[in-house]
Amino acid sequence: MPDIRNCRRCGKMYNYIGGAPICPVCKEQDEEDFKRVKEYIYNHPGATISEVSTELEVSVEKIKTFLRDGRLEIVNGEGNMILECEVCGKSIRTGRFCDECSKSLSKDFASTAHDISSTISQQSEVQKKSIGMRYLNKDDKKR
Ligand SMILES: [Zn+2]
Ligand SMILES: [Zn+2]
Repeated sequence: MPDIRNCRRCGKMYNYIGGAPICPVCKEQDEEDFKRVKEYIYNHPGATISEVSTELEVSVEKIKTFLRDGRLEIVNGEGNMILECEVCGKSIRTGRFCDECSKSLSKDFASTAHDISSTISQQSEVQKKSIGMRYLNKDDKKR
């Protein structure tokens, strides 16, 4: 069964094959924009996002998406730090969180996973008890 979806970008119906929910045409456009942005930054080290956006007519939002995806990195100059950690607001070069926050986030995640597994073992404890009760009832009937 083909997975037909509407493209998030242009709204056209297309056969979804995984990845971002956009049609192949828009995806290709994105790739093209990404290449141009990458090249521009390569040739103009220290270019700001708004500069790249104006020069290449690629939206600031799209460039930020490339940065958040970790596909682009701001390499030089404090002044170019336009991305902020979504937790503490510290300037970061790529991705969504600063090193410290991504570390503590993965710790949080690990403890959440631990909570879940202890909940599950508690549940199975309860299940064991109820199974035990059932066996007792059976024995009662036998007598
Ligand atoms: Zn599209
Ligand atoms: Zn942070």
